[in-house]
Amino acid sequence: MKTTLKTNITVKDICDGFVYNELEGKGLFGLSGKLTIQPEYQRNYIYADGKRDVAVIESILKGYPLGLIYFNTVSDDKFEVLDGQQRITSIGRYVTSKFAVKDENGMEQYFDGIATDKQAKILGTKLLIYECEGDESEIKEWFKTINIAGVPLNEQELLNAVYSGPFVTLGKEEFSNTQNANIQKWSAYVSGSANRQDFLERGLDWVSKGNIGDYMSRHRHDKNITELKTYFNSVIDWVSSVFTDVESEMRGLEWGRLYEEYHKKAYHPAKVSAEVHELYADPYIKNRKGIFEYVLGDSIDTKLLEVRVFDEATKKTVYAAQTAAAVKKHISNCPLCAVGHDVNKDRIWKLDEMDADHVAAWSKGGETSAKNCQMLCKTHNRAKGNR
Ligand SMILES: [Zn+2]
Repeated sequence: MKTTLKTNITVKDICDGFVYNELEGKGLFGLSGKLTIQPEYQRNYIYADGKRDVAVIESILKGYPLGLIYFNTVSDDKFEVLDGQQRITSIGRYVTSKFAVKDENGMEQYFDGIATDKQAKILGTKLLIYECEGDESEIKEWFKTINIAGVPLNEQELLNAVYSGPFVTLGKEEFSNTQNANIQKWSAYVSGSANRQDFLERGLDWVSKGNIGDYMSRHRHDKNITELKTYFNSVIDWVSSVFTDVESEMRGLEWGRLYEEYHKKAYHPAKVSAEVHELYADPYIKNRKGIFEYVLGDSIDTKLLEVRVFDEATKKTVYAAQTAAAVKKHISNCPLCAVGHDVNKDRIWKLDEMDADHVAAWSKGGETSAKNCQMLCKTHNRAKGNR
């Protein structure tokens, strides 16, 4: 990361064109419009408590150091505050007379009411500012090191910071806006919240096939998000048309991957719906989240459903009966070994060397009860596969 220390930027420079948004509680711009103080991904201003904001101003008046401030260089003449937005916003709000500080006589004084030499002292105070320029990994590492308002940024917030620009701004307008009427619909399939960038992250994940950073880097300066938006909507529309019922287990599934794999296949929504209902009613299915992919894949891959296995008591009972019968006949207690021709054909396996198997496969309607249970040696059980 390239860093340049600036020691000649004054409070006056920083506060030139300072804009504070009361509604959002954010310091927005400074440095004649060249500096974004609290970019979208930053949290709101929290120093307005009459203590921390006042302490910043008192430090300046007493000539104490304010600490280092870091800017992220966005382009030649544009910067964002990486670290220091609370201090800068405090200074800006004070200089624009948004709050008062007690003088030596204990009197509350606004900036425009104090002596001009004091005003000049504040405005002339120089700040220690590092201008930073780096690639994604460097800036991310950097963000993880510094402490932004005590709450660590999540992965997508970090990426928004690293790739800030028109693309991120437009993306956030669409996907991170809690007022967006689509959020309720999206929430059926995507988990998380707009505030913490979860919808934006999912949209980017889907359109980029998992390479979010790379995608954001390539599109950073785009003036539109058409591809992202179109792709996201295609996935959501596809899911909601194939599966006409909304089930809570649909939330947070890998719909982007499933869309890529299955969207060219034709489905009959009424049949799909009936099959989903039937599977939901099946007490042997442990993993309901797997039902949707199972149905999309023509109901073949039962592993997705984690069909309930036989309990230990059932296994022991079946093992005992099977073994007693096999010993009498001098054959293996694994029925598949017994009909084979190798050395295992009369081998008596121990209980822990065997696994329970559905005689009639679960997928063909076989129950998970003792009368549908047989014990197989582990090798044969594995080989039998589809259960
Ligand atoms: Zn066997």
